[in-house]
Amino acid sequence: MVTAAPQDQWRLLDVQGHDTRLAQLAHRRRTLPEHAELERLQLRRRALADELVAARTVTSDLRRELAKAEADVEQVRTRVARNNARLQSGQGSAKDMQALQHELGPLGERQSVLEDAELEVMEKLEAAEARVTELEAQDAGLDAEIGELERRRDQAVAGIDTEAGTEDGARADAAAGVPADLLALYEKVRDAHGGVGAARLYQRRCEGCRIELNATDIGRFRSAGPDAVLRCEECGRILVRTPDSGL
Ligand SMILES: [Zn+2]
Repeated sequence: MVTAAPQDQWRLLDVQGHDTRLAQLAHRRRTLPEHAELERLQLRRRALADELVAARTVTSDLRRELAKAEADVEQVRTRVARNNARLQSGQGSAKDMQALQHELGPLGERQSVLEDAELEVMEKLEAAEARVTELEAQDAGLDAEIGELERRRDQAVAGIDTEAGTEDGARADAAAGVPADLLALYEKVRDAHGGVGAARLYQRRCEGCRIELNATDIGRFRSAGPDAVLRCEECGRILVRTPDSGL
């Protein structure tokens, strides 16, 4: 059985107060809204990176397609120019001249079809390049947003850490005045009971579980010596008596 002077038991309530505050700070640190927001933005950035890879692939495919279309047009243009030059020079037989002349019609049609195709690829490429530019701008914006959010998160964490450091020191000071066996019991109970190991007995109610004492407990607690360390029958926490305990 652990026993302790009433004032040592009261100090335990101070220790509990600091432990509760430390647990709240740790919880606040874990659940900063910046964490969830950062996770959302990082997911968006990964999706955007995939979109960018796809858009750049489309662009480079279209550039190749355009080079090919340009070469096709160039080939026909060269042929037309060559025919025209030969016709103008007038060198060759009448039959050759006629054949060259004859070829110009279908060549012109072919050139027009190829030029239309080239134009179409150019338009597609322009749209694809615009898409890449737009995605790159989104990516840069997202980077800036993430950087700003990380800065805010680090600032919040640093603030909490400073508070926790102060609280740690105060907790150590309070704990230094509590007998070792009582402190060990408190820490054991605290770890097993969601962070609350010691509670005030206030108006016949355990402030740990909020349950009111029954008549048997009241009788037992009344007859206990002031150095007895009481435990709540319901939750098992250390119950510290004060003038408001209602005993
Ligand atoms: Zn209780």
